[in-house]
Amino acid sequence: MPELPDVEVYVEHVAARTVGHALERVRLASPFVLRTASPPLSAAHGRSVTGVKRLGKRIVITLGPGGDSLHLVIHLMIAGRFRWKGAGAPIPGKVGLAAFDFAPAVGTPHPEGGSLLLTEASSKKRASIHLVDDAGLAALDPGGLEVLGSSVEDFAARLRSENHTLKRALTDPRLFSGIGNAYSDEILFFARMSPVKLTSRLDDEEIARLHASIHTVLEEWTDRLRREAGDFPEKVTAFRPEMAVHGKFGKPCPRCGTPIQRIRYADNESNYCAKCQTDGKLLADRSLSRLMRGDWPKTLEELEAKKERGRAAAAPRPGSFAARAASFIPSRPPALESAEATPPAPPQRTRSKRAARASK
Ligand SMILES: [Zn+2]
Repeated sequence: MPELPDVEVYVEHVAARTVGHALERVRLASPFVLRTASPPLSAAHGRSVTGVKRLGKRIVITLGPGGDSLHLVIHLMIAGRFRWKGAGAPIPGKVGLAAFDFAPAVGTPHPEGGSLLLTEASSKKRASIHLVDDAGLAALDPGGLEVLGSSVEDFAARLRSENHTLKRALTDPRLFSGIGNAYSDEILFFARMSPVKLTSRLDDEEIARLHASIHTVLEEWTDRLRREAGDFPEKVTAFRPEMAVHGKFGKPCPRCGTPIQRIRYADNESNYCAKCQTDGKLLADRSLSRLMRGDWPKTLEELEAKKERGRAAAAPRPGSFAARAASFIPSRPPALESAEATPPAPPQRTRSKRAARASK
């Protein structure tokens, strides 16, 4: 799925070619790609583009006049892509979803106008277009914090607002904007943090390191993609040879040379370096656990729930060895994890220690 760096570069190119131009019309190859009925698409025709911006992972093309703006909100999902073609270019068969035709406009960077094509090279058609007014646009905002430009304090507050694994927190669009599976892998590698570490267990230093890593990774990648885009970004993909860990299962870690590992769930996978990120521990993989016990969670949500139940049962004291051990998912099946990694403390001993502390 195109994430912040790819979407930012799309936004820059679409803005350079469309701001100041009138949208002559929108052609739809499939009626299903348009997910709104009111206002009708014809309400957008003839309006001039006043701005293009990113909303999470979506691209928003704003049509004037100001005060009565309409917004075309395009979500590329996994396989949606843009192409820029000459005016009136046909929508490509099979992959083509829609075309946005822009009129010529003198005095703009690309006065000739042209057609922005929306394609989706997948049998699952998930990419979408919404046409909304200002209130409709606000309703489409998932509310994630823009980490670039946010302070460490704001970032920490958002990170600590819910307790999740880092992988899930970073990729939750309600918490953070524009980060998906690929760049979260890269960010966690850069920060040397486990994808399944819980956000409630991060200290201030770790949060500052994570915040800095997000800046470094997203800024460097946006710059790189900007340089590579040329006339218009054509090679948008979540898998790039320069990535450190994402899509690199089995390849040597660029930092330490050990093979990159993975956690697989449903139709996705996360990549990490065990030596650099998890103190050498292998995080259990669903296919591995099927061989062993067949009980590994399919999603990060399930994994979190499982950890939560395990902790509630064992209730290790904060800072104890058991508590630290529970912040990692070991490579053993869950039954062994609860038996070995988080042994329940004898209740009477816990009580007597607390009592002893209280009496001091
Ligand atoms: Zn490594």
